[in-house]
Amino acid sequence: MLSTSDPHSEAIAASSKWQKQSAAGNNAGAQRIDEIYGTDVFDQRKMRERLPKGTYKSVLGAIFKGQRLTQLDADVIATAMKDWAIERGATHYCHWFQPMTGLTAEKHDGLSIPDGEGGVVFQLSGNDLVQGEPDASSFPSGGLRATFEARGYTAWDPTSPAFIVRGANYATLCIPTAFVSWNGEALDKKTPLLRSIDALNTQAMRVLKIFGTDAGVSSIGSTLGVEQEYFLVDRNLYHARPDLTTCDRTLFGSRPPKHQQLEDHYFGSIQPRVLGFMAEVEDELYRLGVPVRTRHNEVAPGQYEIAPLFENTNIACDHQMLVMETLKRVAGRYGFACILHEKPFAGVNGSGKHNNWSLSTSTGVNLLDPQDETHTNLQFIVFMCAVIRAVDLHADLIRASIANASNDHRLGANEAPPAIISIFLGDMLTDLVEQLEKGAPNRTLKGGRLDLGARTLPTLRRDSGDRNRTSPFAFTGNKFELRAVGSSASVAWPNTVINTIVAESLDYIATEIEGKLKSASPTESQLEKVVKSALQQIVKDHKRVIFNGDGYSNEWHEEAAKRGLPNLASTPDALPALQSAKARNLFKKYKVLSRAELDSRAEIFAEQYNTRMRIEAETMISMARQMMLPAAFEHQRRVAETVAATERAGIDPTDARESLEEVADLIRRFKSAATQLDGLLGKVPEDPHKAARYIRDHIFPVMEALRAGGDGLESIVSADLWPMPTYRELLTIR
Ligand code: ADP
Ligand code: MG
Repeated sequence: MLSTSDPHSEAIAASSKWQKQSAAGNNAGAQRIDEIYGTDVFDQRKMRERLPKGTYKSVLGAIFKGQRLTQLDADVIATAMKDWAIERGATHYCHWFQPMTGLTAEKHDGLSIPDGEGGVVFQLSGNDLVQGEPDASSFPSGGLRATFEARGYTAWDPTSPAFIVRGANYATLCIPTAFVSWNGEALDKKTPLLRSIDALNTQAMRVLKIFGTDAGVSSIGSTLGVEQEYFLVDRNLYHARPDLTTCDRTLFGSRPPKHQQLEDHYFGSIQPRVLGFMAEVEDELYRLGVPVRTRHNEVAPGQYEIAPLFENTNIACDHQMLVMETLKRVAGRYGFACILHEKPFAGVNGSGKHNNWSLSTSTGVNLLDPQDETHTNLQFIVFMCAVIRAVDLHADLIRASIANASNDHRLGANEAPPAIISIFLGDMLTDLVEQLEKGAPNRTLKGGRLDLGARTLPTLRRDSGDRNRTSPFAFTGNKFELRAVGSSASVAWPNTVINTIVAESLDYIATEIEGKLKSASPTESQLEKVVKSALQQIVKDHKRVIFNGDGYSNEWHEEAAKRGLPNLASTPDALPALQSAKARNLFKKYKVLSRAELDSRAEIFAEQYNTRMRIEAETMISMARQMMLPAAFEHQRRVAETVAATERAGIDPTDARESLEEVADLIRRFKSAATQLDGLLGKVPEDPHKAARYIRDHIFPVMEALRAGGDGLESIVSADLWPMPTYRELLTIR
């Protein structure tokens, strides 16, 4: 897709190789993809075609070297972008940004203005492109902006291409931007991410310089491929449940007799209506230049996955937002609602997002590729050890970066990795690390080949280690996979954290090595000696974070405690990590977040937890009082009448009476839990962090009790009276 030899375009070019391959395949499907791929994206190719040479060079300078654009350049680019957008039917443009809501935001302005002579002219100036001014006071700022301090700016991110979002009668040019306050403080998820990418680049380049492998490399960035899980349910059923429409999850409901226990959904053949939906989602995403590739059924009934090819992290994060929005938008056209919540249904699997992260040079070299004789690949071992050290030192920050009310249902619930952050390395790398600890590694374990025992089947190349589904941070061949991100979350923040902590460890290692190397041009063996001794110490200090066993087991929880690894079970436990001196120094040192910016995030996350939980509790109370209790009372009345009628008929009424007592008892407990919950909501403390703990300790248990009561009622109240669709209906797609 992109043709310059510069960094991130290389990563993207590598990742979009499939496009050329599929075009070469010359079948109708591949041709269709080839025709629509990237048509609604103003990418580098289009800029090259449409911009004067000098301006195009300035754009590349801005993208790859962070050089400033002149006013004239900005005007020329804006005009070309506007012409392209209008040709493609756009009537409006917007600065598209990612405030701390975790969603995206956009304010549309017309591309046409009256010309004063009764007609209109189309216009997008350089200023319109580069800078916008949305009201900052109505977005979460965690104290950075008060209501009276409303000024905020959006600033064009030239590294992420503009795109057009279209519907039946609209087409809007969206310009990716960062969002900051009047005094330059980051109010969004993109600004710190971009800063973290800069920090990573600086430190990773030092390592390449040490090994003399930096020739021709202009920068290093992280690469990211995000697998997204989601549920589809029938739209009408979704809207018949206030819990789904308000909270995107069921607050009541019990598991049907058949759910996922037959393991017949995972990778099962995809239902035609669902496949139609997936194909349309993919078409829209291809059009937006999102290289989606993988689709399949997931474990739970009604659960699916979509995954793109990896790209540079900034673009991948923007694209991830587009994936979520597109899933939601297209679902309606197929009569579905798409649920991105982490735990929409109790008793069946929840949804996550697997965050595949690696490091790539501008020349397209994956720095986490161990290659064949890994023990000789010292540079790889440096990068691997940097990740090990980073994750061990900052496990608490990684945990905090994925903490929210919805993900709390998942982490540690034996379907997602535990809340204890550890690293899975697999047999080969673990062996290597053990060798390193003792001295110099001198062998690389090999996987060999698998003979399948039938003449007609091929022998398979076996990986040098098995996979581990229970590890939160797993090495998977040539990348690390953070498997604990929630399905509804923006991935920008977890990747900001990963980039920053790895930058710090690379800085540490580079400083160690540079300090010990006596000459500026050491011999290979001098270098080897210094590097190995630095890494040996890192392994000794941080190997406790490596764990290849079953992360779901109780033994691991005990073992992890012995090793001193943090086990931050819930969001209120996890968030304080953001306010530690360690975190403040880290983000300040690498210029990713100032103390005020970091504090504001801690406050926003706590407030979001509290608000979400409060909305859920209030929704439960209203469902209990307005829907479930009336149904239960009606059922009770029917049973009471049955008791009376049975007695009148001279038949022993014991059975009916027992049913009556059972329902009356459940109603009593259910009603009293609702009353109790209502009362507790009036006692939540003011301070957001205190409130979060209060909600977790006092409100959440009562919500659970209320749910248990409601689910008990659901199991005995006559089906014709039950006021909402049940799990059996929700989880069956016709
Ligand atoms: P899995 O078997 O783990 O489910 P998938 O194919 O579903 O694998 O997803 C793997 C993801 O990892 C894809 O998005 C893929 O593009 C991404 N990936 C592969 N290599 C890299 C890399 N070097 N950096 C970042 N992501 C990568
Ligand atoms: Mg996958």
